[in-house]
Amino acid sequence: MVTDTRQTRPPTPGLTDDSVAYFKGRLCPLRDATVNVATHGLNYGTGCFEGIRAYWSPDDEQLYVLKLREHVDRFFRSCAVLRIALPLTRDELCEVILAVARENRYRSDIYIRPIAFKSSPSIKLTLSTIEDSFAVFAFPFGHYAHREGGLHVCLSPWRRIDDTAIPTRAKVSGSYVNAALASDDAHLNGYDEALMLSANGTLSEASSANVFLVRGGEIITPPLSDNILEGITRDAVIELARRELGLLVQERTVGRTEIYLADELFLTGTGVQIEPVTSVDQRLVATGQPGPITMALASMYGAAVRRAMPAYASWCTPVYAQREFTGAH
Ligand code: PMP
Repeated sequence: MVTDTRQTRPPTPGLTDDSVAYFKGRLCPLRDATVNVATHGLNYGTGCFEGIRAYWSPDDEQLYVLKLREHVDRFFRSCAVLRIALPLTRDELCEVILAVARENRYRSDIYIRPIAFKSSPSIKLTLSTIEDSFAVFAFPFGHYAHREGGLHVCLSPWRRIDDTAIPTRAKVSGSYVNAALASDDAHLNGYDEALMLSANGTLSEASSANVFLVRGGEIITPPLSDNILEGITRDAVIELARRELGLLVQERTVGRTEIYLADELFLTGTGVQIEPVTSVDQRLVATGQPGPITMALASMYGAAVRRAMPAYASWCTPVYAQREFTGAH
């Protein structure tokens, strides 16, 4: 039976028209940050973006943006690949991101989305002779993909785009057609997420998260050359695993069958955070329970992102000046 896909889902909860965004060089209500239907980036996916989280710490009464500089650096790298000239410096972009979070007066975990795109109303297939635009918006955000007891995933029939087709290390808007096909199919077939193989049949990543296996107490993750996005959470997890748990982390190619043989499996990403996977293609991962290494990493990560682990305080950039903040939402 073919599932009825016409049913629409509500828009992202919390993404309201009157939230404060940044567009055309100034802060404005999100409802005013609109584009023309002839916009190049809308027609061809010629844009790039970032996904950044900020975490509310009730103890500190503070909102902390996680790894702000790393996200801004990756955004600049993505823009360079697409020949997008940003109208501001890295430091200025950090300030704009903080300003959007601050002006919304959020007191909850949020997601921040900077986006840059080819904005001329043009059908010409070019990246060079065309104008660029840039915007930031933000909204309250909880779990991206979560299931008590761990995610159930499938291996997608859609292969992960190859770096020789669309640059996989850049967060290119158009490449998310590939991710959406895999993720949508997985959901319609009753799974929480999709793992994606490269065209050569080896593991690449999930639709919008990196993937890790644990085997024999060692951690394994596909290398950057296996068509993955250079995940910022991936780096954080590698650092925590080595420094806090003293584990060996190997970045190496993973064949399809090895996925089924893992003692533990988990996804990492800004959206998904650290989420255990407990079945793949209806095969249990080990006993089908979230594994101890996954849970130890998730718990440390959860503390570090709210600035509760002093060794990782540099991951967290405060949004509010301590005295200035009076609170709202
Ligand atoms: N791969 C893809 C395709 C993604 O969209 C994301 C989310 N940004 C990730 C991996 C994870 O990257 P990060 O940890 O930097 O969010």
